[in-house]
Amino acid sequence: MIIFKSATDISRYLIQQNQQGIRNAFVPTMGALHDGHIALIKKARAENKLVTCSIFVNPTQFNDPRDFKKYPHTIEQDILLLAKAGCDVLFLPSVETMYPDGLENKLHYQLGDLENKLEGKYRPGHYQGVCQVVHRLLNIVKPAKLYLGQKDFQQCMILKRLVEIIGLNTQVIVCPTRREPGGLAMSSRNMRLSIDEKKQATAIFEVLNSIKENIKNKDLDVLKNEAIHTLNQKGFKVDYVAIASTDDLNEVKKYDDNYTLIALVAAYLNEVRLIDNMLLND
Ligand code: AMP
Repeated sequence: MIIFKSATDISRYLIQQNQQGIRNAFVPTMGALHDGHIALIKKARAENKLVTCSIFVNPTQFNDPRDFKKYPHTIEQDILLLAKAGCDVLFLPSVETMYPDGLENKLHYQLGDLENKLEGKYRPGHYQGVCQVVHRLLNIVKPAKLYLGQKDFQQCMILKRLVEIIGLNTQVIVCPTRREPGGLAMSSRNMRLSIDEKKQATAIFEVLNSIKENIKNKDLDVLKNEAIHTLNQKGFKVDYVAIASTDDLNEVKKYDDNYTLIALVAAYLNEVRLIDNMLLND
């Protein structure tokens, strides 16, 4: 695996590869890698000749400075895991490389209503920060394919829109969420949970399953309120539980077979904010 820290160097290398007809698949991450990230790398590996991963903890997407400060860093282990998974190129930029003119956002992305609901509502500015960094990464890496995780469903929708806005010919591929044996969605933030908290956190998967099982025979508001109640009882502080259409993430009040529905949850377990989702009629 070749590791680049300079944007110019990686860009030059990938252009040379492209000129030889070798198209590039890209997996952007913030590091502290787990099996969810590695599944994306392995899928990209199986489907492409050249796989690039980036590790960059992007300061502009953290609306909570404490979350940024406490974000886990495990770079040596990450490098080993990536090499073992068959990643070809790792981009490891510094903040100065990604933001040579400072962190201020000079571009505003027209993301529509999508950036103001659910995650966007509870993390103001988050998706502008995500777009800011991914736009820069895409300009440097210019991938033919971009591999993302369903775990961040709303982010996948936002990034599909970003690819359209900037007019890149990049195919977005969304991969299923990888889970711990008890059902907890893998996340770098899980490293901040104790063993007991990890057990407690499986409640999120359980309420998502319960919504899915009962979607056709119970009122959706009742289902939602039951989920919030269960999570509160298990010690969570809930930001939202939503049952929404995958078209626009607008909440739905009645089950309708004509729409693909998704349940989404964001909740704090003590200091750690966890998100998860489940497709309901796939
Ligand atoms: P992150 O490092 O959290 O920014 O995530 C980098 C990429 O990995 C994003 O596309 C995430 O959606 C994806 N990802 C994170 N957790 C998982 C998971 N448990 N399963 C599959 N993909 C994931």
